[in-house]
Amino acid sequence: MCHLSSRIAAWCLALIVGGETALVAAETVRFSTVVIDAGHGGKDGGSVWNGLVEKKLCLDVAKRVETALRSRGLRTVMTRRTDTFVELEQRARIANRVPSSVFVSIHFNGSRKTIISGGEVYYRSSRGKWLASAISRSLKSKVAGGIRGIFYGNYKVLRETQMPAALVECGYLSNKREALRCTDPVHRQKLADAIVSGLLAVRRKE
Ligand SMILES: [Zn+2]
Repeated sequence: MCHLSSRIAAWCLALIVGGETALVAAETVRFSTVVIDAGHGGKDGGSVWNGLVEKKLCLDVAKRVETALRSRGLRTVMTRRTDTFVELEQRARIANRVPSSVFVSIHFNGSRKTIISGGEVYYRSSRGKWLASAISRSLKSKVAGGIRGIFYGNYKVLRETQMPAALVECGYLSNKREALRCTDPVHRQKLADAIVSGLLAVRRKE
């Protein structure tokens, strides 16, 4: 076992495979494919604030995540890649057909309390929480605007997907400063890169 501090030791797990003992980080997930779910689409625009329409930003960031993951040799599946309406159940069905995968849903937020800003990451399962934590840490360190935290969320796409899954709210379009940031493709690229870094941080290669 790890002869380190108890905090670090908690991350280590002795795996005995065919008599061999190997140390692996406990909070890792084995996957080769990421199912990327751009929120909303078609008749469902999502949040509309400060002249921004959520569905467009979701798809933009989702495509950036796709490009970044592929450049790192991972496979990707998109639940939508055009401005089309896809039912939540259908998104889960698409994901559940993909072996060795994790699922990340990309959204932007809105609130009548326009002072609120920052990202939020939601999970439902324990392995989903590992993904959410890693994405949250990455957003916190890499993206202006910060992160409000990770939260349990009983969302349909988290409930009906069978693989580790997280839902990222990339920021509040209702907040003027954050909306302005979201109009900048450089910021959207940073969001995508942070999501990818988070996913890769928990990945255990097959
Ligand atoms: Zn949304």
